[in-house]
Amino acid sequence: MNFVETRGNDTKHKEEVSFSQAILNPSASFGGLYVPKYLPKLEDDFIQKHINTSYKALAFDILKAFDIDINDEQIQKALDLYDNFDNPLNPCPVVKIEENLFVQEQFHGPTRAFKDMALQPFGSILSSLAKIKDEKYLILVATSGDTGPAALNTFRNKENIQVVCLYPNGGTSDVQRLQMVCEDATNTKVIGIEGNFDDAQDALKKLLISKTFNDKLQKNNIKLSAANSVNFGRIIFQIIYHFHSYIQLLKQNEIKNNEKIYLIVPSGNFGNVLGAFYAQKMGLKVEKLLVASNENDILSQWINTGIYDIRNKNLKLTKSPAMDILKSSNIERILYSLFGAKQTKIFMEDLKQNDIFSMSKEQTKELRKYFDAVNSNDDYGLKIINKYAQKNYIMDPHTATCLKPFESLREKDLKTIIYSTAQWTKFSPTVLNALNNDNNNYSDKEALEEISKKYNIEVPKNIKALFTSPIKHKDIINKDSIEKEILNFLSIV
Ligand SMILES: *Cc1c(COP(=O)(O)O)cnc(C)c1O
Repeated sequence: MNFVETRGNDTKHKEEVSFSQAILNPSASFGGLYVPKYLPKLEDDFIQKHINTSYKALAFDILKAFDIDINDEQIQKALDLYDNFDNPLNPCPVVKIEENLFVQEQFHGPTRAFKDMALQPFGSILSSLAKIKDEKYLILVATSGDTGPAALNTFRNKENIQVVCLYPNGGTSDVQRLQMVCEDATNTKVIGIEGNFDDAQDALKKLLISKTFNDKLQKNNIKLSAANSVNFGRIIFQIIYHFHSYIQLLKQNEIKNNEKIYLIVPSGNFGNVLGAFYAQKMGLKVEKLLVASNENDILSQWINTGIYDIRNKNLKLTKSPAMDILKSSNIERILYSLFGAKQTKIFMEDLKQNDIFSMSKEQTKELRKYFDAVNSNDDYGLKIINKYAQKNYIMDPHTATCLKPFESLREKDLKTIIYSTAQWTKFSPTVLNALNNDNNNYSDKEALEEISKKYNIEVPKNIKALFTSPIKHKDIINKDSIEKEILNFLSIV
């Protein structure tokens, strides 16, 4: 299958590209994104077929349904990375925590956040494509905490790929920082930026348009790609687990064939819930997609009003930092899917120029056929973590935001799956605050130990090991020195 562009074609780009082209060079005409030309239909017989197969077999068949230009061997090699998850047959288990309420745990991969679900196989595919084409790629990542470790892990020691990861110094949890700065692969570079996540992201954006930087890359035959969810190579792997969660409920005899369910997704860049939206369009029996936001309520505001307005909004730092967002990239793919390229281009240009776009009443109605949304705040999240800990289920602060839609948005009494996007071990000080009902400033290390003891749950070995691992990346620099630092790393001064 080929891929087309969300903002239409500028005649300089190809009108349609293959999957491999879309993931190697993810920026499309007019600053748009690539989307599949159509979505394959996977109906009841597909679901039935997979009730007793493995996750990898399900994933393989979904990728084949997209008819992508990656050969079976490469696909299989990429999917074999799920063998490194806690349970290879079921890398993202679905557990019941209450009547009608289930959690799909998406954090059983190497870095303990849902990013591994897609980045693990994506890294394998990107690197094998680069190798086949005999091209060198540089991946630049600005991270607020979870994408960085997952990208470093997937690309470590991969041929033809180098990764530079920028994180805001002081803006991540200890565990997240250590996962990055202890990375010892020679093709990776991790740089702390003096400033917040916005500063890190701005620095990266500046670099992407810097003429000297791009000239030097070109001279040295290094191409730029991306590992964030603007890259469809991540999105395709984020469709699979929604099918998996539905199949898990069937297997557990919690639903009957074709019974509809709610999916609740804690959202930031809208990549996870975009995967769910595609799954629904492909035939998965979803009643509605319920979006959870935190105090950065731009997504819930947009879905409720049809107006995306960031004119008077500032980013707030919350206890669910992976959802702290103002400009959410993947809503563009939703707009394209509902209203087409011409309209999407108008909306995205409005947003760029005026920090706002407004949909009509009819368009908003169309959006709300698929989505509903509500936001919550840190206090609410802490209470939820405490409540479920008493029932012996420890969840992280991102997962906790999902309970708000569960409590307030369901119009029907249907089974509901909430997505747990990070393990509690990544945000243990916040979790311990919730459990102890205090405001203490715990370190990650003491919080991990205390929770582990109190609730008799294991901390994964690779998380424990971080606190005694040597630190490989010590640089904390001013954002103005980034270009020089990266060129140094690439040895192309
Ligand atoms: C990335 C992330 C999210 C947000 O996912 P999007 O696909 O960007 O909407 C939510 N929770 C955690 C823990 C994450 O790492």
